[in-house]
Amino acid sequence: MADLTRRQFLKVTGTTLAASSLALIGFSPSPVLAEVRQFKLARATETRNTCPYCSVACGILMYGLGDGAKNAQANIFHIEGDPDHPVNRGTLCPKGAGLLDFVHSKSRLQFPEYRAPGSDKWQRISWADALDRIAKLLKADRDANFIEKNVDGLTVNRWLSTGMLAASASSNEVGYLTHKVARSLGLLAFDNQARV
Ligand code: SF4
Repeated sequence: MADLTRRQFLKVTGTTLAASSLALIGFSPSPVLAEVRQFKLARATETRNTCPYCSVACGILMYGLGDGAKNAQANIFHIEGDPDHPVNRGTLCPKGAGLLDFVHSKSRLQFPEYRAPGSDKWQRISWADALDRIAKLLKADRDANFIEKNVDGLTVNRWLSTGMLAASASSNEVGYLTHKVARSLGLLAFDNQARV
């Protein structure tokens, strides 16, 4: 205290008085500090899914805002491992833990695109147009190249000129059905993105 000048003394006491006066009229920081932090997943929509990256097929929980109302823009803002999933029990590897970046990546393809023969540009098309085109091209190729019998006259029912790459974010049931469709068409070249 002996080292304080008169000016410094007035500054210190003035500041203390101002602070205690603010507290008296209700600007105390105590209530702010005591407030419970809002849970960030409150009011989020929870959706179960499967990590698309590898054949482990870990279960994930995706949390999004937007309840499906007309003006609400759905937006996933948090992804974590599903604790009820028998494969991963809530855990995710670093790749799966970074899924949110994959979802919001600017380079993520979100709709079908078509590049006409000779063109250097991709153009957006509808899902209906894309599926129609795929079905027509598959049929034309199968009609032209299907092998019913081998050179010995044995029935083989092979379609060797087309292959299929399936997704890994599928349930066992979807995988089973996809396999049935591919094999019943005669496709031999059939693999899963999970192995890539
Ligand atoms: S979280 Fe990792 S281990 Fe699990 S499916 Fe995704 S990539 Fe595979």
